[in-house]
Amino acid sequence: MVRSDAPFTAQPDLAHRIDSTLAAALAYWGGSFEQVAGMTITLDGARYVECGGVPGAIGCYDGDIRVSTGDMGNDFACVEQTALVHEVGHAVIGDRGHTDPRWMDFESVASALDGRSGYDGERQTACPVAVSVWRHPPCRH
Ligand SMILES: [Zn+2]
Repeated sequence: MVRSDAPFTAQPDLAHRIDSTLAAALAYWGGSFEQVAGMTITLDGARYVECGGVPGAIGCYDGDIRVSTGDMGNDFACVEQTALVHEVGHAVIGDRGHTDPRWMDFESVASALDGRSGYDGERQTACPVAVSVWRHPPCRH
């Protein structure tokens, strides 16, 4: 579901890009497509997404996944840059407190997804992924 006007959300490759990002994230977390089957993924243009009262969330998993399509007021250039990889982790392993060491790694999934194209308006741009968007130190929320 798209609730954003970030240019990448209007591209014809969006479904394929979401699928391949899911595949990379599931490989990282040791999950399978059955674990995300039937889930709604919402791409939200708001800077922060609604997440059970958690302030400042750029992504949320509560049975469905919502991710912001921007950060600091700028649109992401591609779906790979969103918090989707992080939220798939919650769908696969739960761990709301981020105690698993994989929350602070993500290097292998970053290299799997790096080098793809992004979109800036009508222009095609690079889409470097930043593990800092996906990382989360141990906490309770
Ligand atoms: Zn999290």
